[in-house]
Amino acid sequence: MLMGGPACESCGRPMAVGRSGKYCEHCSDAKGALLSYDEVHRRLVEREFMGRNGMQREQAEVAARNALSRMPAWQGAAR
Ligand SMILES: [Zn+2]
Repeated sequence: MLMGGPACESCGRPMAVGRSGKYCEHCSDAKGALLSYDEVHRRLVEREFMGRNGMQREQAEVAARNALSRMPAWQGAAR
Protein backbone atom coordinates (compact mmCIF):
# COMPACT_ATOMS: atom_id res chain seq x y z
CA MET A 1 0.00 0.00 0.00
CA LEU A 2 1.26 3.44 -0.82
CA MET A 3 1.84 6.02 1.84
CA GLY A 4 -0.12 9.23 1.90
CA GLY A 5 -3.79 9.87 1.52
CA PRO A 6 -6.53 7.33 2.06
CA ALA A 7 -6.42 4.34 -0.27
CA CYS A 8 -9.35 3.07 -2.25
CA GLU A 9 -10.84 0.06 -0.50
CA SER A 10 -11.47 -1.61 -3.82
CA CYS A 11 -8.18 -1.28 -5.69
CA GLY A 12 -5.77 0.13 -3.12
CA ARG A 13 -4.70 3.08 -5.18
CA PRO A 14 -4.36 6.39 -3.34
CA MET A 15 -7.37 8.59 -3.88
CA ALA A 16 -7.48 12.17 -5.03
CA VAL A 17 -7.15 14.64 -2.20
CA GLY A 18 -10.53 15.78 -0.98
CA ARG A 19 -12.39 12.82 -2.39
CA SER A 20 -15.08 11.51 -0.08
CA GLY A 21 -16.22 7.94 0.20
CA LYS A 22 -14.26 4.71 0.28
CA TYR A 23 -13.64 4.17 -3.42
CA CYS A 24 -11.62 5.95 -6.07
CA GLU A 25 -13.05 7.29 -9.31
CA HIS A 26 -12.01 4.11 -11.14
CA CYS A 27 -14.01 1.85 -8.85
CA SER A 28 -17.19 3.79 -8.31
CA ASP A 29 -19.92 5.46 -10.30
CA ALA A 30 -20.79 9.15 -10.27
CA LYS A 31 -22.64 8.73 -6.97
CA GLY A 32 -19.73 6.98 -5.28
CA ALA A 33 -21.27 3.51 -5.34
CA LEU A 34 -18.92 0.61 -5.87
CA LEU A 35 -18.98 -0.87 -9.38
CA SER A 36 -19.35 -4.59 -9.96
CA TYR A 37 -16.38 -6.88 -9.43
CA ASP A 38 -16.22 -7.60 -13.15
CA GLU A 39 -16.08 -3.92 -14.03
CA VAL A 40 -13.43 -3.10 -11.46
CA HIS A 41 -11.44 -6.15 -12.48
CA ARG A 42 -11.57 -5.25 -16.18
CA ARG A 43 -10.44 -1.70 -15.51
CA LEU A 44 -7.59 -2.86 -13.35
CA VAL A 45 -6.49 -5.35 -16.00
CA GLU A 46 -6.57 -2.86 -18.84
CA ARG A 47 -5.39 0.30 -17.13
CA GLU A 48 -2.95 -0.98 -14.59
CA PHE A 49 -1.49 -4.31 -15.52
CA MET A 50 -1.70 -4.11 -19.30
CA GLY A 51 -1.50 -0.36 -19.71
CA ARG A 52 1.09 0.52 -17.15
CA ASN A 53 2.97 -2.72 -16.59
CA GLY A 54 2.76 -4.01 -20.15
CA MET A 55 1.47 -7.46 -19.22
CA GLN A 56 -0.28 -9.84 -21.57
CA ARG A 57 -4.03 -10.08 -20.93
CA GLU A 58 -4.05 -13.54 -19.40
CA GLN A 59 -1.23 -12.67 -17.02
CA ALA A 60 -2.86 -9.34 -16.22
CA GLU A 61 -6.20 -10.97 -15.40
CA VAL A 62 -4.59 -13.27 -12.87
CA ALA A 63 -2.58 -10.45 -11.33
CA ALA A 64 -5.66 -8.25 -11.04
CA ARG A 65 -7.68 -11.04 -9.44
CA ASN A 66 -4.94 -11.60 -6.89
CA ALA A 67 -4.71 -7.89 -6.14
CA LEU A 68 -8.47 -7.52 -5.66
CA SER A 69 -8.69 -10.58 -3.42
CA ARG A 70 -6.64 -8.71 -0.82
CA MET A 71 -8.80 -5.59 -0.79
CA PRO A 72 -11.44 -4.87 1.88
CA ALA A 73 -14.17 -4.27 -0.68
CA TRP A 74 -13.78 -7.77 -2.09
CA GLN A 75 -13.09 -9.83 1.00
CA GLY A 76 -15.26 -12.89 0.88
CA ALA A 77 -15.98 -12.50 -2.82
CA ALA A 78 -15.77 -16.07 -4.03
CA ARG A 79 -13.64 -15.55 -7.10
ZN1 LIG B 1 -10.25 2.07 -6.70
